[in-house]
Amino acid sequence: MLGKLLARVMLAAAASWTLGLLAGAAPAPETHKSLQIYFVDVEGGQATLFVTTEGKSLLIDTGWPGNNGRDANRIAAAAKDAGIKKIDFVLITHYHDDHVGGAPQLAAKIPVGTFIDHGENRETSGASASRVYGAYQQLLATGKYKHIVAKPGQVLPITGMQVRVVTADGELIERPLPGGGKENTNCANAAKPPVDTTENPRSLGTLITFGKQRILDLGDLTADKEMELMCPMNKIGPVDIYIASHHGFFQSGSAALVHGIAPRVAIMNNGAKKGGSIVAWEVIEKSPGLEDLWQLHYSEEGGDAHNVTAPFLANLSGPDAGNYLKIAASEDGSFAVFNSRNGETKKYAAKSN
Ligand SMILES: [Zn+2]
Repeated sequence: MLGKLLARVMLAAAASWTLGLLAGAAPAPETHKSLQIYFVDVEGGQATLFVTTEGKSLLIDTGWPGNNGRDANRIAAAAKDAGIKKIDFVLITHYHDDHVGGAPQLAAKIPVGTFIDHGENRETSGASASRVYGAYQQLLATGKYKHIVAKPGQVLPITGMQVRVVTADGELIERPLPGGGKENTNCANAAKPPVDTTENPRSLGTLITFGKQRILDLGDLTADKEMELMCPMNKIGPVDIYIASHHGFFQSGSAALVHGIAPRVAIMNNGAKKGGSIVAWEVIEKSPGLEDLWQLHYSEEGGDAHNVTAPFLANLSGPDAGNYLKIAASEDGSFAVFNSRNGETKKYAAKSN
């Protein structure tokens, strides 16, 4: 038994995997020298929690409403795991129910300091966006929270990492960011995407930097806006970690974006039946320099041919388990991805250049 376990550990170590459950306990807590990023499973919505080395926190989106507070509970569990008792900043990318819908339940569950958004809801044609926007406005109207309407180019007032707004309310940065500014060779054959008139292209997108680490989150920004951001000039430049836009749904995640930013690792916050489109999945898999794609869920649409293998999946097909992924990112550019389903961590060394 022990021999078998040892062999497994040696095998795991050889593949640069480490087992977090050796002692049968929870993984050892991080030493807080790294930025912690929790990819909370909200079943095809978004809820990404950043906790800095000093315990300051930023939550990007709040998941879905309803479900007896399921998503608020999962976010609160991540906050507890990170050792924080309040969320300093909650950034709402846009007014769809899988992003802002969970805000009232979250605010009832854990103290929030400041809400950040792109301003007014622009999707008034459908009832859903108006409803969740209305509930969010009621929350702001209580006067309990600070409120920031973010503009492209702005650096948000959170300390311990730099959060720069790159897109908001359909507008985007005019000048390239440091590291960007080169011609994007992935634009040449790109078809012109349809203009999206929903809240998606208005997503409040951010580039988060921590030392050498660059992390991109564009919410559900659609391909029409990706072209503006990336063609012909790549305004972003290379990133280390790409939070796959729009849950890996085919309307987003064009090659012009993904191959232009050429991430080392992509994290897809898809659900079993939401996002994880074959075409978007293939773009990521073919991205130059990609080391790994991780998914919150096995995508039913993708089937075995278009899903990553089990070690890179937080939730396999079957009953909802709510497993999360967590990244611990260091200033030197190294990082590690932890999968709560199996307790395993994969490390990524700092790049030598
Ligand atoms: Zn979404």
